[in-house]
Amino acid sequence: MLRLHRQYLRDLHRTEVFFVPDSIPALDVSLDKLASMDYKGVAYEVMKLMLTDFTEEELKDCINKAYDSKFDTDEIAPLVSADGAYYLELFHGATIAFKDMALSILPHLLITSARKNNVTNDIVILTATSGDTGKAALAGFADVKGTKIIVFYPKDGVSPVQEKQMVTQKGDNTYVIGIKGNFDDAQTGVKNIFGDKELEKVMNAAGYQFSSANSINIGRLVPQIVYYVYAYTRLLANDRIKDGEKINVVVPTGNFGNILAAFYAKNMGLPINKLICASNDNKVLYDFFATGEYDRNRDFILTTSPSMDILISSNLERLIYRIAGNDAAKNQELMSELKSQGRYGITDEMKKQLADFYGNYATEEENAATIKKLYEDTGYIIDTHTGVAATVYEKYKKDTGDTTKTVIASTASPYKFTRSVLTAIDPKYDSMGDFELVDELNRLSGVDIPKAIEDIRTAPVLHDTVCEVNEMCDNVKRILGIN
Ligand SMILES: *Cc1c(COP(=O)(O)O)cnc(C)c1O
Repeated sequence: MLRLHRQYLRDLHRTEVFFVPDSIPALDVSLDKLASMDYKGVAYEVMKLMLTDFTEEELKDCINKAYDSKFDTDEIAPLVSADGAYYLELFHGATIAFKDMALSILPHLLITSARKNNVTNDIVILTATSGDTGKAALAGFADVKGTKIIVFYPKDGVSPVQEKQMVTQKGDNTYVIGIKGNFDDAQTGVKNIFGDKELEKVMNAAGYQFSSANSINIGRLVPQIVYYVYAYTRLLANDRIKDGEKINVVVPTGNFGNILAAFYAKNMGLPINKLICASNDNKVLYDFFATGEYDRNRDFILTTSPSMDILISSNLERLIYRIAGNDAAKNQELMSELKSQGRYGITDEMKKQLADFYGNYATEEENAATIKKLYEDTGYIIDTHTGVAATVYEKYKKDTGDTTKTVIASTASPYKFTRSVLTAIDPKYDSMGDFELVDELNRLSGVDIPKAIEDIRTAPVLHDTVCEVNEMCDNVKRILGIN
């Protein structure tokens, strides 16, 4: 078994290194018993199997601090039935997108782990963001003792709502800086700061060390397994399925983190039939599952599901490693090809092991039509990422005739992408202002406006630093008071 807690401290310095569980442990509590537990109870039973170095008390303490009133429902991840599918709403946390599910517990795991390893330095989280991760990380780390968090975002490269969410972030340990460059510049700048050995020494002397919160951190993956187990056991508790009956899971996919967690859940013994991987027009993964070739040499397409606009799905490497028979050398060979040529192909032997997966994609028109139809048929309004998943689920049913009960991961609140969602329902909405749209969505859906949205209506801007790319390091030093 992998000793995960040490990795929290190392994972992110080395963006080239991936930690994978040596073997995937089996659930050791019956599904029936899990069905009688609440979210926190299920979280403990799942996470204890992977985080074996944490004591029961430590892990429960992390779970209690994470899944509390930051979520607007005690259920944490409610399951909503609509039009023959079950939508697992993963957006009831502080930033109304699914990244909260992991980023609300990561800071506590990190701090507990640091203490166990006798790390006395304060941990400085450095993150480059294209929008969602930055805010979720800020919300997770705000006022967590022993940490500071510094987020760099492309000043003109995030949506107005995303920027407003970040620059209004409270907490004495939070810092948000816009850079005059794009996301790649921000990412490269952060990597350079991580790699600066001289700075590391000075930091250490001043009592600081860096870590990060990006999506390859295995500390984000483990908490994501929980909600698949939770969803299954809710179906069981509500007599929607029989004990042991298989379900399908549909995941709107970008970096492959969320669906990989579902794959781990299946490998832990959760009765899952197909893992349905839904892509938008950036359909690298669809092509990969269809042909066994991963090829990022293509145009990057901006869509209405921006969190899935991605051509290199970092977490796919963990699956590749596994289907290569945990062969690190083979994995390395393919990843080097990806780096040098932007593509790689897997062997037939490896491809056979992908039978658990089904991949498809949704065009912009199909996605909009799905959102509109679901609203008109049921009154339920989903966001554009979930719309991609719902579209792909329809294609899957058509392709296969499979009638297995299905859970769709609903990754963002429609309030986060109000304009795209409402114009899908009726193009007339495009002429309205952002907050008018919020009120309109509230009227149409009957769903309360989330606190995250109410907050940014009135919240004062607390962060207004903007810098050049080559001033990023100086800003970090200024914040930490070092020269
Ligand atoms: C990050 C994100 C995704 C993609 O999840 P991955 O784990 O990167 O595959 C999908 N939807 C939303 C709303 C997201 O924020």
